[in-house]
Amino acid sequence: MQRLSFCVLLPLCMTYDVIVVGAGASGIFTSLFLIEENPNLKILLLDKGKPLEDRDRKQGKDLMEGWGGAGSFSDGKLVFSTDREYGGNLQEYIHDMDLFGRLMRKVDDIYMRFSSEKNIRVYGDDEEKIESIKVRAARCGLHLLSAKIRHLGTDHNFEILKNMYAYMKDRIEIRFYHEVAGCAQRDGGFEVHIKDLAHTKEFIETSPYLVLGPGRRGMTFFKKLAEQIGLELINNQVDIGVRVELPNWVMKEICDVVYEPKLVARTPKTDLRARTFCVNYGGEVVQEEVDKLITCNGHSYADDSKKTANTNFALLVSTKFTHPFNDPYEYGKAVARQCNVLGNGVIVQRLRDLKENRRTTEKRLHEMNLQPTLKTATPGNLGYAFPYTQLLAISEMLELLDKLMPGVCGSDTLLYGPEIKWYSSRTVLKPGYRACDPFFFSESRAFPCMDHLKHFFVFWVPVIAWCALIFYFSHHPVPEPMSESQTFKGVDIIYHFLAYVPLGVLSFRASKHFLFSILFVFLYGISDEFHQSLLPFRDFEIKDMMVDGSAGFFGVWSLNLCRFLSGT
Ligand SMILES: Cc1cc2nc3c(=O)[nH]c(=O)nc-3n(C[C@H](O)[C@H](O)[C@H](O)COP(=O)(O)OP(=O)(O)OC[C@H]3O[C@@H](n4cnc5c(N)ncnc54)[C@H](O)[C@@H]3O)c2cc1C
Repeated sequence: MQRLSFCVLLPLCMTYDVIVVGAGASGIFTSLFLIEENPNLKILLLDKGKPLEDRDRKQGKDLMEGWGGAGSFSDGKLVFSTDREYGGNLQEYIHDMDLFGRLMRKVDDIYMRFSSEKNIRVYGDDEEKIESIKVRAARCGLHLLSAKIRHLGTDHNFEILKNMYAYMKDRIEIRFYHEVAGCAQRDGGFEVHIKDLAHTKEFIETSPYLVLGPGRRGMTFFKKLAEQIGLELINNQVDIGVRVELPNWVMKEICDVVYEPKLVARTPKTDLRARTFCVNYGGEVVQEEVDKLITCNGHSYADDSKKTANTNFALLVSTKFTHPFNDPYEYGKAVARQCNVLGNGVIVQRLRDLKENRRTTEKRLHEMNLQPTLKTATPGNLGYAFPYTQLLAISEMLELLDKLMPGVCGSDTLLYGPEIKWYSSRTVLKPGYRACDPFFFSESRAFPCMDHLKHFFVFWVPVIAWCALIFYFSHHPVPEPMSESQTFKGVDIIYHFLAYVPLGVLSFRASKHFLFSILFVFLYGISDEFHQSLLPFRDFEIKDMMVDGSAGFFGVWSLNLCRFLSGT
């Protein structure tokens, strides 16, 4: 009822040009690209989390939600690689490698534009040293993947996000504590159902374009939505593993050259693909929460004074499932749940205790030289929580790494579990959904792009055609049988209504902006009277202008009411 009265009395249609779901990297960059392409776009960016300054990184939920998404307290590594092996799935969406490279450079330029520190180091450019490490790795049965990496560090990354918010907040509408509960396709666009979490209110916004960037916190939402709007998803892999923490000296030599050594191997006995991932030299292990499950991750600061004495990295084992099992996400959740039940969150174990198949206790943990950086982890036995095959593959991989970097299997090595790489479901792109410049994708998020040309033909060509028809009739005298003298006084008001009500309807259908449509019809009415003033058989009449404007308003208002009543 509230909505009805609003719609009828104050019929301002609450629509946006683009609605973006999620203020993580994908949502922020999409919005940035859009406003820089067209500053007049009306963009709504929604996130269920908090503004940056209210986020507490120690809360698993806060670590992942709000301004900056999961990236706010991240290590801020910008990887310049189009190599599929290095990670990510962008190649599946962007086939043009030049475009891929351009987009990567553009993203880096944007990060640097918002950074007050302009000399942030790019690692991985010493070809000679990299080649020598590659050879040494190969001798140990490991394959080194290297790429150029800019390490922003958690400190610069956070400052950049803060500056981005300051720049964007007055250019687009950003709403925190707003969760998108669902959306439906309507009238060539989308109707988005939103929950205002702060005021426990629900409402709807509409827009012709919808960008979905809900990240890992929105995986369940994304899966459900994809089913609703008929997007096909692929997801057949889960990477399960541990976060390894050891003294900096073990990896210093290699991290100095490549920053993030991605070492890959097929484990000798289990024949599984194992790899190191997300290396944080001088960093900290942190815990994150996805779907009420607590897992670990890591980050580090760029500022040397904030570095710890420890390096951490993820050691992951890839498991691809085949028929009849097709729910790797559930499998990963089951492993994480088991760890969480036993450890009341993350479990930490000394490597030497794992080898002896015994629990790590508080006492054993204190006996170490290394100080664990994740204080909330519970000392325990990963052997009770992890599947045998994965644990065996992890041990095998650690042995291989120890050959390249002696000390990996030393007495000061800790394993935190679980570390799970959730491969969020990816969309299979269909016609009408495409990756295009200036848009780009974050790892698994696709967004529908309507075809601009088609939109123009379907919505704007009828407006232009109708304006041309009005122009044509205005340019000729009223046919004698239709004139006032042959019919009745005031018949021209009917003609004006017949011309301008449809113009109102068509322009509102195309623009979806209530005020814009009225203004458009009114201005066209003025230009029409001006046109007539130039003709010998027509006059400029204020009364006609007022009638045109009223007819246009009636057309716009009627369509708005019809839309409301039909629920579109
Ligand atoms: C500790 C840590 C370190 C990392 N280090 C790096 C690194 O060095 N380099 C790197 O490239 N990547 C790193 N990552 C990964 C990187 O942060 C993510 O890949 C990136 O954040 C993904 O961006 P996104 O926009 O797709 O999703 P997210 O960043 O996850 O953002 C999604 C946003 O959507 C919101 N959302 C979800 N569902 C809804 C809904 N229904 N309604 C409204 N809002 C919703 C969430 O609140 C969230 O804010 C790290 C991650 C972590 C946690």
